[in-house]
Formats: sequence, structure tokens, C-alpha cells
Amino acid sequence: MSKKKFKTEISQLLDLIIHSLYSHKEIFLRELISNSSDALDKLKYLTLTDDELKKLDFDPRIDINFDADAKTLTISDNGIGMNAEDLDTNLGTIARSGTKNFLSQLSGDAVKDSNLIGQFGVGFYSCFMVADKVTVTTRRAGEDQAWNWQSDGRTNYSVDETEREQQGTTVVLHLNDNGTEYTNRWSIEQLVKKYSDHIAFPIFLEFDDTKFEGEGDDRKEIKEHKIEQINAASALWKKPKSDLSNEDYNEFYKTIGHDNEDPMMHLHTKAEGTQEYTTLFYVPSKAPFDMYQADYKPGVKLYIKRVFITDDEKELMPVYLRFLRGVIDSEDLPLNVSREILQQNRVLEAIKSASVKKVLGEFKKISDNNPEKYKEFIEQYNRPLKEGVYSDYGNRESLLELIRYKSTEEDGWTSLAAYKERMKEDQKGIYYITGDNESTLRNSPLLEAYKKKGIEVLIMDDEIDEIVAPSIMNYKETELKAVNKSGSADDLKTEEDEKKEKDLEPVLKKIKDVLGDKVKEVKASSRLSDSPSCIVADEDDPTMQMQQMMRAMGQADMPDIVPILEINPDHAIVAKLKDASDDAVFEDVSFLLFEQAMLVEGQQLKEPAEFVKRLNRVMESAV
Ligand code: ADP
Repeated sequence: MSKKKFKTEISQLLDLIIHSLYSHKEIFLRELISNSSDALDKLKYLTLTDDELKKLDFDPRIDINFDADAKTLTISDNGIGMNAEDLDTNLGTIARSGTKNFLSQLSGDAVKDSNLIGQFGVGFYSCFMVADKVTVTTRRAGEDQAWNWQSDGRTNYSVDETEREQQGTTVVLHLNDNGTEYTNRWSIEQLVKKYSDHIAFPIFLEFDDTKFEGEGDDRKEIKEHKIEQINAASALWKKPKSDLSNEDYNEFYKTIGHDNEDPMMHLHTKAEGTQEYTTLFYVPSKAPFDMYQADYKPGVKLYIKRVFITDDEKELMPVYLRFLRGVIDSEDLPLNVSREILQQNRVLEAIKSASVKKVLGEFKKISDNNPEKYKEFIEQYNRPLKEGVYSDYGNRESLLELIRYKSTEEDGWTSLAAYKERMKEDQKGIYYITGDNESTLRNSPLLEAYKKKGIEVLIMDDEIDEIVAPSIMNYKETELKAVNKSGSADDLKTEEDEKKEKDLEPVLKKIKDVLGDKVKEVKASSRLSDSPSCIVADEDDPTMQMQQMMRAMGQADMPDIVPILEINPDHAIVAKLKDASDDAVFEDVSFLLFEQAMLVEGQQLKEPAEFVKRLNRVMESAV
């Protein structure tokens, strides 16, 4: 007998599941059935493609039986099965990186954590909510040795050799007090109907039917042993929409999406004509945990004529739509497609491109007809859509209608279209400011003149905006302009400004001499009203935030890009500076104008101690 310890994160997970999912404990059955269904899918595929397994006499099915006296519930399938190694990796460690990430996000606060776990598929381990011992007897298709895995769901599990007549997996739950309610025909039938009706394989329940015969003293109880199919066993996506209720769609989502919550929306499409296929897509109500991980698990499964082909193909959908869950079922692809062929298959390419259009069209419909729902959607998926603007040139136009921004004029989210509607008649562009903190941005001196003139500015505080916004260039012939770049203020410039700039030139030159190569240029500003100074990036340089981001992404050796310092000609300090006779004071004030502009932008000063000394000198002379 070989006893092994669970990896620590599993113990942690088990503990959490047991303590936080009690109100949903019945989902264990859905999870086990879903695993069996996946195992049947996998074997079915192999019986069509693998020469050895083609010979297998395979009649896929799932069997459930229970024993009320022994307090056991058994779920069995004749699917792909597992060998000892599979058992170790699948049931002894947490293979999915999303799970690890999930665990790293746990706060220790039971309520918060149980909300978290609700969004996350708990899979096999959910059975420990209703059982205090679980045994798994399994044999992998094509192998002779069978294995017995056993655990109490605490710290240890064991794996031993055993025998099994056929390939497949049998899970026996030794029920605890929370599980005994599942040892009757009615509760199991009800759960299967609710959660697993449209699993594509038949689920059979074994039970004793009790009947009474005769009258009076002759009345006899007759027990009859029965095995009945208890689910519809039809691929849900193949049914006509009119036969499916919202609930049908939602329950199916939970089975394939490994999620305990209802999805935000679904989109069911049947295409006929040159290409025949069915797609059923879901958008989870919360963004998947691994959405921002390079090794995210794709959520769309490929079927060919209802035969499962793969659920691990990132090419099925563009990367920016990686949050989608669902099914693509093609009638035109050959069943024995290899992975290489899949990746450059024209049929699949056509399905993909039509699906993307369909999905984006659906998002647009929601944004037009259901603003409340669209808001929920945007809070989860704005960022991937922005990635799409950057990466999917073909659908750029549609994506530009879908993304949303915060703004100085409107509460909540606004679209580029709505901004354009609100633009002033002589306004020269769509203005935006980027940075990582909304309140810093809203208070930035760069916005002063825009505020004064009543010009709306989009507030972009998502780091991806730094890359995406400049790439947009134009929205319907209107240029997008970053207000933290030098050129954008030229739009605001009046003749008067130009005159002031001339007057200020000697002072500007003097400040530049003091600051040296700390700044690229010192200019008179036409965008400031209350603040004496601000910094901007030169037109073709990355902004300060962009530089910070690139450093955070590991580009440590990026050369320092120096900003342009802009000075407010109308500010009292600047007016006095013109007449300053004391060189030391001029120097302090010049530095402070630069340093305060850096600080307001949320930048760190290179020499904070020098800054403080200067500040103190100026304060001393003021008091
Ligand atoms: P998930 O199904 O989300 O991957 P689970 O914890 O439910 O996570 O299962 C872990 C893994 O164990 C599965 O991915 C699968 O490889 C394996 N497994 C579980 N149940 C079965 C089964 N009935 N037959 C074959 N493999 C199974």
C-alpha cells in the first residue's frame, strides 16, 4: 500500500470547500458526472482516431447506484480512466494554474473566500462535502493494470493496485451525515434532471422499486430491481432554441463552465449553408480567474458531429475573447483532424471569424438595449475588448463601439460615440489623459484649461490604455489626443497665448539653464489655469506612466526619457519670477516648479532630500 500526502495547497482547498460550500453541497454530483462525461468524450475520440482503441467495443454510459444501509453512493463510467501517474497528477496535486492563483487570492475571511470559491469550479474535491471517505477504482483505456485511490479528504491519499474488468472509473462515496439524503431514487433523479440532463451520454440509475400487490392480509411488498435512464442525453446545443429555457442554458453552462454561478449571457447560433455548424457561447458573470495568465485555460470546446475533439485549443477563439465558454460543433470537419491541421484549417478559420462577429454583434445589441447589463459586462470585460482593439484589426470598428471610458463630464462609463456627440463645435479632437490612478488624473493640472473651456477629457486609468489609446489614432475621422503629450495643447492656444510666450522667453530660458538636462524643454503653457507648472511628454516619447509600465514589465535598461516642463504665464509665482533678482531664489523656485509638477503626476523624485531642503529654504523666507 502506498500512502501519499496531498500537496499543501490541496489540503487548503479541501478545507475551504468543506467549510464554505455547504449551502451548495449538492453540486458534487454535477461535478462527478461532468468528469465522467469528459472521460467518455476523450475515449470516444480515441476510438475514432487511435488504431489500438478503434477495436474497442464502446458503449459510453454513466451508472449511478446507492446503498442506504451502507451509506454509499457510486458513480461509474466506462470512459478513458486513469493510470497511477494520472491519479497522482489529477487527484493528488492541483494541476490547474487557475486553482493555484485562486488559492493565492484567499484572504482568510470566510465570507469573502466563499464568494470567491463560488466563481471557481471546485471539481472532484467537492465530493468531500458529503463524504468522509472516497474511493476511486480506475483503469486507463489500453492498459491492463487498474488502480485504487482512496482518501478521507484530509491530508493523505493512497494508491494501490487492483483489478477492474473494463476501462473506466468508479467513484464510491462513503457518505457522512450531510450526504445520506442522497441515498434515494428521487433526490438523485431530481439532481440529475436539474444539473446534468443534457450531458451527451446516458446516465442510468439503479434502484429497488417497491410495489404492493394483493389486499388485506394478502397484501405483499414486492421489490423489483431496476435500471433506468434518468437524463435526456442529448447534446443541448443541437436542440432548437424554442425547446430550451433560460434555466436549461444556465444549468448546461454550469456543467461545462465549471462555475457555480449563472452566466451573464448566452448566444446560441446554428449556421447552415456553405458551412454547417452550431455554436453555443457563454459569458461568465465574473471574469475567469486565469484571464490574465499566459497559461489560461481556454473555455471553448470543439466538437465535430457531436463528437468531442478538444477543450485545449487556444486557436479556436482570438485571445482577447478568452473569457468565452461554450461549444463549437462542426458538421464539415473530418473526425480524425490532428492538432496541426486544426490550427490552420480553413473551415475552422471561417467558423472562428463568423463567431467573433456574431459575439461582438451580441455585445453591441446589449449595449444598445440593456445599459444596466452592459455596465456589468464592461466592469468585467472592458480590458480584453481593448486588447481586441489593438490586436484584431478586422473587427476594430465594432470593438471601438464596445469599449468604454471614464470621463470628466459623465458619471460612469462613456463610449467614444457618446463623447463625439457631446463634442464642442470647434473642438479639434477626442482628448484623453492616461495614468494609473483615477483621482490623480482627475486632479491633474493638465486638465485645468480643458475644464475651464468645458472640453471633455476621457480618464484612462487602466495600464493597457497607455498602449491601446495611441493605437486608435482616429475614431470616425476625429483624432484622439493625449493631454499629457506636448502637442495636444496647441489646440487650445490663442494669439494672446503666443504673445505671452514671447514675453516669457527670457525666463523660460533661464529656467532651462538651471534645470539642465532634467527637462527636454521649458515652454509657456496654454493648458494651465490654477497650477504654476506641469510636465508633459514630447509628442513621440512615451508618457511617464508608459515608462513606469515598461520598467515594471522588466525593461529596466530603458533610457530615461526626459519630460517637457510647461510654465503657466498667468501664475503669480511666474510673474514674480520675471523680476527675481536673487539667483539662489530663482534656482530654488525653478526646481520646485519642476518637482511639484512631477509629484502631481504621481512620479517619484530622484533626489527627495534636495527637494525638501529647497522647500524649507523657501518656507523660511516666506514666514
Ligand atoms: P477538472 O475536471 O476541472 O479538471 P477535477 O478536480 O474535477 O477538475 O478533476 C481533475 C482531473 O481528474 C480531471 O481533469 C481528469 O483528468 C481526472 N478525472 C476526474 N474524474 C475522472 C473520471 N471519471 N475519469 C477520468 N479522469 C477523471
